[in-house]
Amino acid sequence: LLIVNTGPGKGKTTAAFGLALRMLGHGRRVGVVQFIKGAWHTGEKDALARFGDLVEWHTMGEGFTWETQDLQRDIAAAGRAWEKARALMDDPSISLVILDELNIALRYDYLDLEQVVEVLKARRPDLHVVVTGRNAKPPLVEAADLVTEMEVKKHHFAAGVKAQQGIEF
Ligand code: ATP
Ligand code: MG
Repeated sequence: LLIVNTGPGKGKTTAAFGLALRMLGHGRRVGVVQFIKGAWHTGEKDALARFGDLVEWHTMGEGFTWETQDLQRDIAAAGRAWEKARALMDDPSISLVILDELNIALRYDYLDLEQVVEVLKARRPDLHVVVTGRNAKPPLVEAADLVTEMEVKKHHFAAGVKAQQGIEF
């Protein structure tokens, strides 16, 4: 399956890691590429590290944010992350690849949308891929088998509640 978790509500990335746990519970291998380097060191990275060789985790270029002054450097970092993603998708020992926040890299045109969609569509038949991030591009939604749009009914941030360990990171 090609799975897309999008929309403005919370739960896109955490749902993807829920699937990772499900796959790992069956002893199957999972690959992760994070297309943005968030401000926080997240609990899921350390948790999945405990699975040892069953998990391959790659984070895009050090110091990368979307407020960068150096567009060319960031485009290059996105390209390297995408090459990593392709390598994981080509590894026959991996059953699930999570491309976390790939939608953000596509939204900023840091990667070629058409090429990305073609590669995702041409994945080997025994591989599941999850793409997360807000504002999924229509051609990706079109190509996907399962698309979930997270909707905000309420978010504690609006009431002034700051990011908390175990909830946001
Ligand atoms: P999570 O990683 O918790 O599953 P997500 O992947 O759906 O969240 P992102 O768009 O990647 O959400 O944003 C990362 C963080 O931003 C979330 O951990 C989070 O709580 C916060 N966030 C998500 N949605 C909202 C919102 N509607 N308003 C304010 N903050 C939000
Ligand atoms: Mg996310």
